[in-house]
Amino acid sequence: MTGSDRSGPATLDDLLAVGIRGRHVLVRCDLNVPLEDSGGTVQIGDDSRITASAVTLGRLVAAGARIVVVAHLGRPKGAPDPALSLRPVAERLAAILGRPVHCAQDTVGHSAQSLATNLGDGELLVLENVRFEAAETATDPQLRANLASALAALADPNGGFVGYVDDAFGAVHRAHASVLEIASLLPNYAGDLVVREVGQLDRLAGQGGEIARPYAVVLGGSKVADKIGVIERLLPQVDHLLVGGGMCYTFLTAMGYEVGTSLLEPSLVQTCRELLARAGQKIVLPRDLVVADRIAPDAVTSIVAADRIAPGTMGLDIGPATRAVFAELLSRAGTVFWNGPMGVFELEPFAAGTKAVATAIAGADAFTVVGGGDSAAAIHAFGFDPDRFSHISTGGGASLEYLEGRVLPGLSVLAGPIHAVD
Ligand code: ADP
Ligand code: MG
Repeated sequence: MTGSDRSGPATLDDLLAVGIRGRHVLVRCDLNVPLEDSGGTVQIGDDSRITASAVTLGRLVAAGARIVVVAHLGRPKGAPDPALSLRPVAERLAAILGRPVHCAQDTVGHSAQSLATNLGDGELLVLENVRFEAAETATDPQLRANLASALAALADPNGGFVGYVDDAFGAVHRAHASVLEIASLLPNYAGDLVVREVGQLDRLAGQGGEIARPYAVVLGGSKVADKIGVIERLLPQVDHLLVGGGMCYTFLTAMGYEVGTSLLEPSLVQTCRELLARAGQKIVLPRDLVVADRIAPDAVTSIVAADRIAPGTMGLDIGPATRAVFAELLSRAGTVFWNGPMGVFELEPFAAGTKAVATAIAGADAFTVVGGGDSAAAIHAFGFDPDRFSHISTGGGASLEYLEGRVLPGLSVLAGPIHAVD
């Protein structure tokens, strides 16, 4: 098929229609799971990204493809780092799929080449962490293209890859070799996870029907700079923008309040001031906060009004009055997008705000989307049934950038010309 009559990317259905039994398929997955150090041994925390990847992989297995998985884990410095090996992740994937998974000792070296060459029909190979290769994230596109060529060549002795499937939604905002350059070297397809994520986020943007109102967005977390852009973009569309977490202190500073030693992004104070001036009543800031002198499980905490943070103390959660306001707005909403915890939820004294927001969203009769690795981890850690949320995105940065309306390299390359396959 040439797909000349369509605008979106080719999908897994299109690839399966080609007939892929015995053919090699390269799949970019997002297997970037949180690792927990429990007494010296590294363990996988929330494995929902592996589970989410198993859908596409399972379909390729059933079709008899010879599957080579490329993925990254953590942020190695462009060189092998045993602590960030994908081997334990490959083992978890094997357990989830209920079948053996081969694991290469390198990404495009001898181990990867020989294991890829010898794959049987319906067998899987996970390449070692692609970020062990400095070229994966290189700013020089030629270096990235070289790595992409090496990846594409892994199936050469067997007639080459029949296609490249991008199923790594959490990485589509990255201009990396295994996301961008590789997709223009091989016939490319969007995996089931990418299709599902994009479909759910499009609903938040009002595509495919009216947005159910009120539309409430809750933003928190620690990466303030990353999230200001999405505020600019979403403000005209939303009815309520609830701000908590580490990012609220830049807004509170813009209000003229003292924020003590709380997280603060001084260069963004003026932007926050302008947003507040423009937004009228839409932006809802905390009215009270849980403060402490340090981030520790046994820190002495107190609850203060948002304009009464004492010097030397830091805000680490939203307070009870704020929780009530947020919960009330969320329970009445028709559409909710939540990104970023309301406080340092990992520690019990600062978890209540995030728990209150999660509870209100889970109970809302609304279309609800949660994005962000830590927000999703909070939902799992608190023991919420994931089915109580309409969609929990596997991508944090990617979902924000998508909602911002930015061009995402990994998606635009897929939406490009669709290659004829025979
Ligand atoms: P997500 O992964 O959901 O996008 P972020 O990565 O932006 O969220 O932020 C998550 C982190 O923010 C958590 O580790 C949490 O402890 C931290 N955090 C939340 N509120 C605060 C705060 N007031 N001060 C410092 N850190 C905070
Ligand atoms: Mg995070």
